[in-house]
Amino acid sequence: MGDYTPDAADPVQPVALECPKQTGPSPSQSSVLYHQLRQPPLNIVGGRGSYLITDSGQEILDATCGAAVSCLGHSDKRVHEAIMEQLQKVPYCYSLYFTNSAAEELSKILVDSTEGKMSRAFIVSSGTEAVEASLKMAVQYYMEMPVPQPQRMNFIARKQSYHGNTLGSLSVGHHIGRRALYEKVLAKNVHHVSQCYPYREMQDGETVEAYVARLAQELEDKFQELGPDTVCAFVAETVTGTTLGCVPPLPGYLKAMKEVCARHGALLILDEVMSGMGRTGTLHAWEQEDVVPDLQTMAKGLGAGYAPIAALLVNQHVVDTLTQGTGAFSHSQTYQGHPISCAAACRVQKIIQEDNLLANVREMGKYLGQLLNQKFGENSHVGNIRGRGLFWAIEFVQNKETKEPYPPSESVAWKIHKAALKPEYSISLMPGNGGIDGINGDHICFAPPYNCTKEEIETIVDRASRVVEEVLGK
Ligand code: PLP
Repeated sequence: MGDYTPDAADPVQPVALECPKQTGPSPSQSSVLYHQLRQPPLNIVGGRGSYLITDSGQEILDATCGAAVSCLGHSDKRVHEAIMEQLQKVPYCYSLYFTNSAAEELSKILVDSTEGKMSRAFIVSSGTEAVEASLKMAVQYYMEMPVPQPQRMNFIARKQSYHGNTLGSLSVGHHIGRRALYEKVLAKNVHHVSQCYPYREMQDGETVEAYVARLAQELEDKFQELGPDTVCAFVAETVTGTTLGCVPPLPGYLKAMKEVCARHGALLILDEVMSGMGRTGTLHAWEQEDVVPDLQTMAKGLGAGYAPIAALLVNQHVVDTLTQGTGAFSHSQTYQGHPISCAAACRVQKIIQEDNLLANVREMGKYLGQLLNQKFGENSHVGNIRGRGLFWAIEFVQNKETKEPYPPSESVAWKIHKAALKPEYSISLMPGNGGIDGINGDHICFAPPYNCTKEEIETIVDRASRVVEEVLGK
């Protein structure tokens, strides 16, 4: 990548935008430590609706809301006003000494949204922090039971999962590439079982029921191997996002996994950092699964990117145990319950309700799925198209029959991502890899804003199909 020069003959239809002028140094002269140290990314100076604007005036259709974050688009004035209002009241107070009205209001919104199934919210600044908090709370829960169970120190998580990048969250995740450098310092008390990944792991002729039973048996076997009373929690993304690429659970899968946990008295932690807060068509993805988690994380759609925010929702029985135990959660952070982030998230959540956006997620999500199947179904490099709500992915293969993936060295998903940013396409697509075994497998994800229009969905699929054709052919 580099700095792009807009082409006068660019076929992309620009939306009517005022383009802010560049205000800082160009990325190539920057002091920022970019993810790709030798490859500065495009410099974003503005955002309007579903579009991001670069310092050279390129208007990029954000088909992924960044990493499934900006679910209201990039310029909702109502959220700006809520942030300003809170800023004028008080920007910050330390949650160890004080609470604040915005955190109180947001927690009530979140708890009410579960119809009382979850009872308290612990508000932090990123998905990773919410996951870390969930792991620590699970440990504390068993330490503070009326009859403590200090031997429950094993976690079971799933292969091809992603739960964040700090050492604890990386330990429960299973992206081999992201783990590799740190393997020796990752937690040894985390064990991984298979994903629910029908495209590659369901056997020929196997029914959904039989596949789900096989996965539940694998979890049961893992409990037995470790010693059932040594397992603290089973951790899973409700709809698997980053590493695997938008794979929804099969009917009955999460229920079967919860039954195994319940049989052995272990907790179920559902990580909805990416799939939660409306992305899959219901506010909480678990609502579609007939399960209630003991602990639930959420982040991206919570604040829609207007401010960094995430949360851990806690079931009543866990709250009760801690309340009757030491009476304090042994974990806190400086920016916990940050008033400005909470005010932004409150407004975002009210807008999702007021504008009836979950209905749009379901309707536009269905349309996106249809168009992806129409455009990519016959492509000889696309092995699988899957998703739920406005959360879809296409998985690439070298050979449709054998499902042979591209070698990781070809970085197919990243090539598509980079090509998509060229002026003739001007679309941001989310690349992913490691879906097959933590190393092999490429996909791209689509996660447009909840308020996207039919025309935007059509533009997304049209541009994406032209990019894929340029990189891989038909
Ligand atoms: N958990 C899941 C399921 C995620 O998808 C992510 C990020 O993509 C995280 C945790 C980490 O969240 P963050 O990047 O906000 O720390």
